[in-house]
Amino acid sequence: MRQEKYFMPVCPQDLTERGIEQLDFVYVIGDAYVDHPSFGHAVISRLLESHGYSVGIISQPDWKKDDSISILGRPRLAFLIAAGNMDSCVNHYSVSKKRRQTDAYTPGGEMGRRPDYATVVYGNLIRRTYRDVPIIIGGIEASLRRMAHYDYWSDSFKRSVLLDSQADLISYGMGEKSIIEIADALESGIAVRDISFIQGTVYKTKDISGIYEGVMLPSYTQMKEDKVRYAESFGIQYENTDFITARPLIEPYPNHIYVIQNPPQPPLNTAEMDRVYALPYRRTYHPSYEERGGVPAISEIKFSLISNRGCFGGCSFCALTFHQGRTVQTRSHESILEEANLLIGDPDFKGYIHDVGGPTANFRHPSCEKQMTHGVCKDKQCLFPKPCRNLKADHSDYLALLKKLRLLPGVKKVFIRSGIRFDYLLADPDDTFFRELVEHHISGQLKVAPEHIADAVLSLMGKPEHSVYEQFQVKYRQLNQKAGKNQFLVPYLMSSHPGSTLKEAIALAEYLKGIGYMPEQVQDFYPTPSTISTVMYYTGLDPRNGNKVYVCRNPHEKAMQRALIQYRNPKNYDLVYEALTIAGRKDLIGFEKHCLIRPGKNNDREKQQVQENHKTTGRKSMKSSKDTMRSSKDTLRSDKDSMRSDKDTMRSGKDTMRSGKDTMRSGKDTIKSGKDTIKSSKDTIKSGKDTIKSGKGTIKSSKEIIKSGKNTIKSDKNIIKSGKDTMKSGKEKNRKKHTIRNVHKKKDIR
Ligand code: SF4
Repeated sequence: MRQEKYFMPVCPQDLTERGIEQLDFVYVIGDAYVDHPSFGHAVISRLLESHGYSVGIISQPDWKKDDSISILGRPRLAFLIAAGNMDSCVNHYSVSKKRRQTDAYTPGGEMGRRPDYATVVYGNLIRRTYRDVPIIIGGIEASLRRMAHYDYWSDSFKRSVLLDSQADLISYGMGEKSIIEIADALESGIAVRDISFIQGTVYKTKDISGIYEGVMLPSYTQMKEDKVRYAESFGIQYENTDFITARPLIEPYPNHIYVIQNPPQPPLNTAEMDRVYALPYRRTYHPSYEERGGVPAISEIKFSLISNRGCFGGCSFCALTFHQGRTVQTRSHESILEEANLLIGDPDFKGYIHDVGGPTANFRHPSCEKQMTHGVCKDKQCLFPKPCRNLKADHSDYLALLKKLRLLPGVKKVFIRSGIRFDYLLADPDDTFFRELVEHHISGQLKVAPEHIADAVLSLMGKPEHSVYEQFQVKYRQLNQKAGKNQFLVPYLMSSHPGSTLKEAIALAEYLKGIGYMPEQVQDFYPTPSTISTVMYYTGLDPRNGNKVYVCRNPHEKAMQRALIQYRNPKNYDLVYEALTIAGRKDLIGFEKHCLIRPGKNNDREKQQVQENHKTTGRKSMKSSKDTMRSSKDTLRSDKDSMRSDKDTMRSGKDTMRSGKDTMRSGKDTIKSGKDTIKSSKDTIKSGKDTIKSGKGTIKSSKEIIKSGKNTIKSDKNIIKSGKDTMKSGKEKNRKKHTIRNVHKKKDIR
């Protein structure tokens, strides 16, 4: 078949136009059909096409209608099934098992276009119509449910998805090599029940006599009855994830059925990776989705480049080891630059490459040389608890790739959005990559995932000690200062991971208080299939060593742990208060600097009161309902009266308005007359003032007259006095004259 740049057939008309009488494979998928290498169905369908097989796509069939599965007819070789880029239950539900509102992998983001447990549902749908056509299941959902597993959403222990879906084979992991081998085996006429020899597959059988060096796992029945047996089984599975060292694993089921997991497919070398990414993808969603608004997920990936796959990080809550393996596989610079040029040629490209990464952005080669011949170590991790002495911590290849991308004409910026493993970054003695990361590849903030700060929890998570993150923070700050930048460091944190008690959650809250940061969103631990942490959650044991692990399962305690991370949010006050009280950490309630919350809003008495109220509310509510009904009838009656009375009120209101207008008119007259009175009073006051003024003048002048009169009287008195004195002196003179005369007279007499 020719490789051309068209979408795979999706309807009978496409088959007619391309002259296809019968397809080799019909691929049933839970996602919308997006022909982009970030979608597993695109890679597998293009790869099969490149090997000469025809593939038709049935995307999101209506699983309630049997004929939805037969629109492309019976395939010549097999049906393929993939639930989508995510497990269908993760896609549908949040960690609190609440239905999500949108589905980024469905046209228009519409929710509900695929069933829960899509692989099982589609498998049974096909079997109802085609009893003898081989069914091959793959993708993340089938891959991580390939053996018996704990299912969080139904809270049950489930069989291998191979049995529940009625499929014949699982192609687990990334599946490029195994799907071609399966296709070639079917093409050569080998019956699907005899395809038991391909790496990267899981099959079922009743005869295990031919299995070479197989490892017998505990049976499904044993594991279902005893969680310890499941932890043991998972521990063995975890040690058998490397293509060189893994052995076939045999899981027995009732009725002498065995589910056999063959070792993983070998990792792709660089040339094989390049070939996969050079296939003629249309790089977008099927045009039939246009009228529904397209597929939202495309915006995240359209201008991003995948540079690697596989991860030797070994985080316990991540299933990547089980899906892609620990061996890092990379594309060549040439392959990535070629794809970058396709991005640049897109009319919507604005000069920004959003990401150059993979599961871990800064893993661009296997962790050591030894693993390429001997496989990755079964009994130790490359980075945990400390970087292995054989670890090759070297960013030079990634650095060179990023430089080349930056220099491409039309590229303004190249960002890294995939996770950076900071302990690996610090293990590199050359800090050039770290410096260039800060200078060129961060858009304002770098998101990293320390996940927690309590070493006890970090150890169960498979993460480095908190001190490593602190070293990273210091260096990040220094490099930002040197570069003259002020870029933030945003830590991803996880609450309620196995091992985290309230004590650790409080320690995390205290840390956040110390650095003055409160995350906008908190990720609760999500027990997705086939992770070490999920096994801890289900069994209470660490499957690596059988040690007991504390598990927070109570939704209320989970809520408290989550609230502690966002202790500053007023909505979380009660939960934080309760958590601190239960943990005996009331010292963190107060006004001191180190306290998380203030007292006052809540106290024990109030709390007791609330609880009592809750108890009595139930009893009271029935009685209250009856009262309410009765009261409603009364209210109805009263409402009618009210309406009647309202009409009267309206009538009376109109009269009041009329009378009000008259009053207003009369009021205006009164105001006018008042104004005249005031004016006349003012005149009177003015004239009074003049009179007073003139009176004062008269008084003054009278006073002057009186004063002058007094002076006249005084002067008159002086005159009188002087007159009297004159008179007196005259009398004295007269008397002396008389006396003298009398003397003279006497002398004369004598
Ligand atoms: S030797 Fe070290 S780096 Fe290599 S696989 Fe083993 S743990 Fe990882």
